[in-house]
Amino acid sequence: MVVNLDGLTTPYFIIYQDKLDKNIEDYKTALINEWPNSQLSFSVKTNSLPWLLEYIRDKGIFAEVVSKEEYLLAKRCGYKDNEIIFNGPIKNKDIFLDSLTMGATVNIDSKEELNFLFGLNEQSRNNIGIRINPNPDIFEEKDIAYKNDGFRFGFSEETGELNRAISIVRGASDSVGLHIHCNSITRSKEVYIALANYAKKIIKKYDLKVSYIDIGGGFFGGIPGKTTAREYISVIKNVLSKVVDINVTKLIIEPGSAIIGSCVDLVTKVIDVKETCRSRIVTTDGSRIHIDPLWAKKSYVYTLENKSDSNITKQIICGYTCMDHDRLMTIYNDKKLECGDKIIYHRVGAYSVTFGGMFISYYPDVYIKKSENIEKVRGKISVDDFYNIHSL
Ligand SMILES: *Cc1c(COP(=O)(O)O)cnc(C)c1O
Repeated sequence: MVVNLDGLTTPYFIIYQDKLDKNIEDYKTALINEWPNSQLSFSVKTNSLPWLLEYIRDKGIFAEVVSKEEYLLAKRCGYKDNEIIFNGPIKNKDIFLDSLTMGATVNIDSKEELNFLFGLNEQSRNNIGIRINPNPDIFEEKDIAYKNDGFRFGFSEETGELNRAISIVRGASDSVGLHIHCNSITRSKEVYIALANYAKKIIKKYDLKVSYIDIGGGFFGGIPGKTTAREYISVIKNVLSKVVDINVTKLIIEPGSAIIGSCVDLVTKVIDVKETCRSRIVTTDGSRIHIDPLWAKKSYVYTLENKSDSNITKQIICGYTCMDHDRLMTIYNDKKLECGDKIIYHRVGAYSVTFGGMFISYYPDVYIKKSENIEKVRGKISVDDFYNIHSL
């Protein structure tokens, strides 16, 4: 369906296809230039919109999934098993074994999954990996959230758990993959240098025959002034090429935000303005639930489309829900907002479109802007849909 931008009902997400294409191209080009024996995959949890998953698959990108549901969704969107990277702490046994047999790349996260391997015959598989739980001491304090308590996922080398996991995987396969994703606060290059060095140390220490190194996601993409795809891949290669042959060991990356974050806007409308004894409250038809998964953000890159030219010192922008803390941001010395004006939030494509629940009102529509055309790819969920989902 082709529609006109002015006639769209708010709130809605809009994906800019040209920017999406650019983000994908940047990562593809970086990999081709630095480490041709590599695979770009997309983190499905970051934005699991079926249109997007199908679009990305058509570009030769794999799906990185973290649950049975995401695995089956990827298959439904046309990915073959051997185009899926299976991560995460809750892989069900049947699908774990099936996916491995069917050629998906499976990164083991738990002792339970190691037990699943005992039923398998030894083969020269190149699709089993182990997730490493990196020592937080390798990072700078400012870069990570859990410097004191460490990370949740994977096997720790320091406690001997990784050593045991390696022995078991070696019993089931003659080569081993390594997965070392880490969510950082800063998405800085130094995080990837540290991760690569840590993987390098482990490869040497255990004299591993490494089928692939999956360095995870957590990169920037499409944001001016930030680390580029080429810079990330080049620093990773500089470290790892000293310990593996890059023609033999594959590099896997699984960005989510870097692909879809920067190319999506949420368009909202002001539905009420109140002058209270303390503040000017601007109520909109958007909500934190749409674009702020942790209900913690305080600011956005935004544009106002409004009628008034006069400025106002302080306005508190609130959402449609009836929760008092549904306050998206406070804006200072900006144009006075009135009913019907629009607030457009930019770069909000990650952990938003398919994340916020169906709470009070349901998911917003989603459109794709392809050159001059706008196409709707997700319609508003109806009360009947909601009723059916929540009934037997
Ligand atoms: C969340 C996640 C990603 C993607 O992270 P982004 O910050 O969206 O790039 C990749 N790999 C794993 C294992 C993840 O958990």
